[in-house]
Amino acid sequence: MTRVDIYRGWCKRCGICIAFCPKHVLDADQGLFPTVTDPEQCSGCKLCEMRCPDFAIVVTKDEKGKARGKAKSGSATG
Ligand code: SF4
Ligand code: SF4
Repeated sequence: MTRVDIYRGWCKRCGICIAFCPKHVLDADQGLFPTVTDPEQCSGCKLCEMRCPDFAIVVTKDEKGKARGKAKSGSATG
């Protein structure tokens, strides 16, 4: 799954990220800050991150995909 973090301190609430998200993952909250409303739909395309003029939104892709979570036992060597 992909994580989308919004740093409100830097965000000027221009709405660009919301407008450019092709998956409609983002929406404005009552204070007009972007908020992630549909994380499951995020494709990780990073359009929001690339378009944000204030570097206020960061997309982090989980490279392991669905193989995350219970990796407790077994130690990787090398
Ligand atoms: S990474 Fe792409 S799909 Fe995900 S929130 Fe940003 S613009 Fe939308
Ligand atoms: S594009 Fe950046 S500054 Fe504009 S609303 Fe989105 S996160 Fe905030």
